[in-house]
Amino acid sequence: MAVSGRATADLRGGASVDGALDVRNPATGEHIASVPATTAEELEGLVARARAAQPAWAELGITARCEILTRMRSWLAAQSDRVVETLVSETGKTHEDAQLIELSYCLAALSFWAGETPSYLAERRFLARTPLVLGRRIVTRYVPRGVVGVIGPWNYPLINSFGDCIPALAAGNSVILKPSELTPLTSLLIAEGLATSGVPDGVFGLATGGGETGGRLIDLVDFVMFTGSAEIGRNVAERAARSLTPFALELGGKDAMIVLDGADLERAANVAVYYAMANAGQACVSIERVYAEEAIYDRFLDKLTRKVAALRSGAPAGPGSVDVGAITTARQLDIIEAHVADALAKGARVVVGGKRGDPPGRFFEPTLLVDVDHTMTCMTEETFGPTLPLMRVADAEEAILRVNDSRYGLGASVFARDGEEGERIARRLQVGAVCVDDAAVNYFALAAPMGGVKESGIGVRHGAEGIRKFTTPQTIVLSPRWMPRREPQMYPFSARRTRLLSRIVRLLYGRRA
Ligand code: NAD
Repeated sequence: MAVSGRATADLRGGASVDGALDVRNPATGEHIASVPATTAEELEGLVARARAAQPAWAELGITARCEILTRMRSWLAAQSDRVVETLVSETGKTHEDAQLIELSYCLAALSFWAGETPSYLAERRFLARTPLVLGRRIVTRYVPRGVVGVIGPWNYPLINSFGDCIPALAAGNSVILKPSELTPLTSLLIAEGLATSGVPDGVFGLATGGGETGGRLIDLVDFVMFTGSAEIGRNVAERAARSLTPFALELGGKDAMIVLDGADLERAANVAVYYAMANAGQACVSIERVYAEEAIYDRFLDKLTRKVAALRSGAPAGPGSVDVGAITTARQLDIIEAHVADALAKGARVVVGGKRGDPPGRFFEPTLLVDVDHTMTCMTEETFGPTLPLMRVADAEEAILRVNDSRYGLGASVFARDGEEGERIARRLQVGAVCVDDAAVNYFALAAPMGGVKESGIGVRHGAEGIRKFTTPQTIVLSPRWMPRREPQMYPFSARRTRLLSRIVRLLYGRRA
């Protein structure tokens, strides 16, 4: 897909061009577009326009905003071929990864937030029961924060960039999106779609550029929604702290799968291979390590070997053409290769794959590793590639210890004898989400909070918490007109009244439970 500098500048509101991001197709090496980078002055202009447009967008009301988001859903569905081709060309992912995961998620998310925002952000009213506010009516409302900065990664340019803009917009904020400098093209289409769907001028802005642009954006906005690596997440938190700007961080993971004796091994193997290799393993919720119980280890390894060996990797040439696409960045390809080399140097064995593919495309063979342990980076650091390291464990107890032995805590997967055992194990895992007899699908349960613990993040997306974070709760206390002019706790103090009030408080709270 070609996006001309002019068209791009027009989408950004006719801003002048200073510097350019070269976008290449990672599967072919082909140069596909030059996108102008947003300058510091342009960024300030974008934020100023967003700030000016935000009050009217908030004033429009939830229903009208959600109608516009529903129109955006229709636009996205109508433009799906164009969007999928753009995703495929700028990331090198398969058509299935683009169509069935990225596009489907965003269509579902547009529907979900349009449907649920009215109830998630409805004003809450209650009567106060504590002594000093007895009889008052309390109203809590959710006020948009103002301008939200969304900073996204390259692995899912639609889900992890636009996906977070949807609830931020629904809540009444203006949004400035800064997609990854490696994959800006999908976001340009989104800007076009939002404008066509009726999002008023200035309410959505696109800032193209790298880390420096991301840093500047943090200084200018009222809330930062960041998705990316734990390393950069730390920088984002430090920068936001300077201006006390609130933020949420969705960071990396090292999601593990446990497979125990008595599990459905065929399903477990299919789930393990799909969720390890989908998007060429470049997903925060990829299965990055598997612990199989001694008793079923050999049978499970046999299944994994056949399934990984059958995968076709290469440049996507339409739906169904390959199973595993390209590695989007050169840096990531180096990391994957280094993790495999480190494992081999420490005694691991490659059962399938193990090497990078031939240029000009960037590929790594779907790889199955055995004889791995926690001295190896492939078991402790985020590999973010099409690798599946399988480790033998004595029993469920050892598996739980291994899963929890990680600086990350995004998700996990458990295949046990039955659902009850799976759930018991799930409750002992130090992660934000566990799928029993499944993996990663919690990401699509949009009503359930999704986020990481430990170094996998701060805050959540999805569910009520996932949209309320884009607001500030404001509480209004309404005292009834019949309130006495002077209440008993007010001046002037008297010893008699204090003794009486103390007795009342003791009577209220002093009784045995
Ligand atoms: P990254 O951290 O390198 O970059 C993410 C974004 O931050 C990019 O837009 C980048 O330009 C910007 N950035 C870089 N330096 C910055 C700075 N100092 N200040 C502000 N912004 C800055 O991540 P990546 O390599 O693009 O993405 C891969 C990572 O994202 C993986 O670790 C993956 O697990 C994680 N991820 C997490 C989730 C989740 O939901 N938890 C989802 C997708 C990806």
